Amino acid sequence: MNNLKNLRGTVDLLPDQLIKWQNVEKIVLEQLARASINEIRTPILEMTELFIRGIGEETDVVSKEMYTFKDRGERSCTLRPEGTASVARALIQNGMLSNHPLQKLWYMGPMFRYERPQAGRQRQFHQLGVEFIGYDSVRSDVEIIALAWDILGKLGIKELNLEINTLGDLNDRLNFQKSFLKWLEINKNSLDLDSQNRICKNPLRILDSKNVQTQKLLENAPKLFNFLSEKSRKRYSNLKKNLEVLKIPYVENFKLVRGLDYYTHTAFEITSGSLGSQATVCGGGRYDDLIKQMGGPNTPAIGFAIGLERLILLAGREFEIPRNTDIYIINQGLIAESLAMDLSRKLRNYDLLVELDLSGASFSKQFKKANKLKPKSIIVIGDDEAVNGEFIIRLFDQSGNRNEQEIISFENDIKLENWINKNLLLN
Ligand code: ATP
Ligand code: MG
Repeated sequence: MNNLKNLRGTVDLLPDQLIKWQNVEKIVLEQLARASINEIRTPILEMTELFIRGIGEETDVVSKEMYTFKDRGERSCTLRPEGTASVARALIQNGMLSNHPLQKLWYMGPMFRYERPQAGRQRQFHQLGVEFIGYDSVRSDVEIIALAWDILGKLGIKELNLEINTLGDLNDRLNFQKSFLKWLEINKNSLDLDSQNRICKNPLRILDSKNVQTQKLLENAPKLFNFLSEKSRKRYSNLKKNLEVLKIPYVENFKLVRGLDYYTHTAFEITSGSLGSQATVCGGGRYDDLIKQMGGPNTPAIGFAIGLERLILLAGREFEIPRNTDIYIINQGLIAESLAMDLSRKLRNYDLLVELDLSGASFSKQFKKANKLKPKSIIVIGDDEAVNGEFIIRLFDQSGNRNEQEIISFENDIKLENWINKNLLLN
């Protein structure tokens, strides 16, 4: 058995690490609730066709990175590489777009991409995604960028860079494509192989090439921005103005095209220098044509996804601290044990964090364990207490010094409640 290992690019999240995950997730979920955004959960496994149609066949994600296999019924299935296509499918399939044209949704969970594992890049990773469905005004672009920015801000993450770009609408891109194709034909032989293959299939994807030589060559190619309609340009300058009003600093990056085919108009990324070479923590943009392309009603939308592994790396050490134990119950003897068990359930009804020692070890060992945990208080139940029908509860101050001690009868709920209110809940 000792050579059983997890798959390359997947990780176990162990209890100590999960304290930080849970603390970070709590802040994020509170912020989402404050913005009136509702959760949606879709299956992790979907028909392969969903992603081919939703994301685009020629994208890196679909052409190289998908976990695709046949199930026992010979259906082609794929572990989701991202969340937006699934959300769009769920909304269309459940008829959610006719009765509720405007929806703000979030999802969180594992995503799967067959990439080369490295720092900040895994094959199973986690994303938090937010989608504003049915919204088409620039205000929604600004709101969603501000939301992403504020989530990162709430976590105390500093030195972030917001990069924005506009990709125009379908028409703008067709106009650009004509002249871009001419340029591509002329420069074909200097492009990397991947890009050469894309000339016929999906030339715009060449803009997203990671090949350094191709990137350099592209600097002299026609610029998408110059082919935008007046309306698209106005929209973009409106976005910039609004961001300035909100004092959200941004940098324009005309190379930012994002890795998925469905984006229109606004595209943005938030990066941090402290993440090293995998610097992007959040990526998003508008996808006005996706839902229609997938067979739904014409529905504009915009969204973003935050990579949770990278978010956890950026969040400070203050999130690594577990919640304090309110009461540690030390007990010994058969009757004491069952009294302790009963009491622990009662105490947890007050929303207290109660650790019941079930080790059966000696009092001194149990005290040692309790002292390590630094609980706010300790309850002791031994044979004497069991016979007398009462227990001792001791309060400690922040540096672990004993403060005061009280003896409370197991029957006296009022006294117990008063003690809890005074010593544990009010401060
Ligand atoms: P990258 O350029 O880093 O590959 P991407 O454009 O493929 O990112 P998106 O599809 O926009 O990324 O996903 C949004 C976010 O999800 C990324 O900004 C990143 O934080 C995170 N992410 C994407 N792929 C991975 C991965 N393989 N491992 C960990 N996090 C990832
Ligand atoms: Mg990628």
